[in-house]
Amino acid sequence: MRSELKISFEEDRLVVPDRPVIPYIEGDGIGTDIWRASARVIDHAVASCWQGDRQITWKEVLAGEKAFNQTGQWLPQETIDAFQEYRVGIKGPLTTPVGEGIRSLNVALRHRLDLYACVRPVRYFTGVPSPVKEPQKVDMVVFRENTEDVYAGLELESGKDETKRLMDHLSSEYGWHIRPDSGIGIKPISKSGSDRLIKSAIEYAIAHQRRSVTLVHKGNIQKFTEGAFRKWGYQLAKEAYPDRTVTWEELDGAALPEDKILIKDTIADIFFQQALTRPGDFEVIATMNLNGDYISDALAAQVGGVGMAPGANINYEKGYALFEATHGTAPKYAGLDKVNPSSLILSGAMMLDHMGWSEAARRIESGLEKAFISKRVTYDLARLMDCAEEVSCSAFAELVCGYMA
Ligand code: NAD
Repeated sequence: MRSELKISFEEDRLVVPDRPVIPYIEGDGIGTDIWRASARVIDHAVASCWQGDRQITWKEVLAGEKAFNQTGQWLPQETIDAFQEYRVGIKGPLTTPVGEGIRSLNVALRHRLDLYACVRPVRYFTGVPSPVKEPQKVDMVVFRENTEDVYAGLELESGKDETKRLMDHLSSEYGWHIRPDSGIGIKPISKSGSDRLIKSAIEYAIAHQRRSVTLVHKGNIQKFTEGAFRKWGYQLAKEAYPDRTVTWEELDGAALPEDKILIKDTIADIFFQQALTRPGDFEVIATMNLNGDYISDALAAQVGGVGMAPGANINYEKGYALFEATHGTAPKYAGLDKVNPSSLILSGAMMLDHMGWSEAARRIESGLEKAFISKRVTYDLARLMDCAEEVSCSAFAELVCGYMA
């Protein structure tokens, strides 16, 4: 009977039972507060849509400080096993343990489950304070490659013997002469890694009726890594989606047909300008790890900042998906019931969409928007709004539930 409660992955599709078990990591610091608020909102949305016919069975799994205190391990194997077994999970922020031999629990989780696509939707909710004039024009989804680039690269420190040995090799084999006091960084970008990420972005655009996929890169400078990402992106679109995609060159001035997605590319520095001046030109973004890191946070700033941005790390080939708050543990606010739970709530809405329970996801978004418009919000938004009333994290969640009906 138990297996009926598990989300499974059959013929490249998630099969979601009416009462799926979903593992969650509460998270460290403010994690307890925002998890409690988010679970309340997610459960309320599901109950209000299906009156008990559908319901999530939450299963707590441990990571971070709570795991360390209870088991002596920061990331117990049972936690990885649970995400593998149940496929879809959600997590709050985790402390990065200093000097414990594990660089980051988030990186470890992404690596162990090969969650190669970091997906960050960035959209504006009416009422949220924004530093730009027309934040409502921002409606993008960033697909950031999660497993390569400088994060999987090699860095050698200036002055070390190993650095000198590599320098000698580069000098004798490649005629590459650099200042002897240099540090050196090497990054990998592969065709297979780029292809699977760009494929996810194109398929997302097709499934969500988006009009364009933009490949963002620094291929003008880094031709065989970032330039190759661009080249492989166009190749993939042409070979795997000939009937669904088109390029500027192929359009040759004609209007974009209804049934086609425009595949285009932009150099990263220009992208940052245009995302501010012409945000309406971009819908789905596919990019490498480091560019994606910068881009996700810069775009989030346009629509309300760190407390608002949802995210997911997904392996579309195996059906694993881990939804998460994108901010950290904000230790100084831990346990004060004060911070904004929207990032984790919206990640929960993304999770419901991913499960095909989109009706509940739309209810959450609508409840949140009405709460923002009411100007009864957590401290981070209240201090940027005129005549706003500051409410606690848990009170904000109750407001969202109240507005959902
Ligand atoms: P942080 O995001 O925790 O906090 C920075 C500041 O942002 C906070 O002081 C607060 O003013 C604000 N903030 C963050 N979340 C907020 C929310 N929900 N509502 C309102 N304001 C919010 O970043 P940090 O201080 O650099 O990192 C603290 C810890 O979190 C570190 O251990 C770090 O490694 C970890 N971290 C974890 C994740 C993750 O788990 N995904 C991400 C980033 C940082």
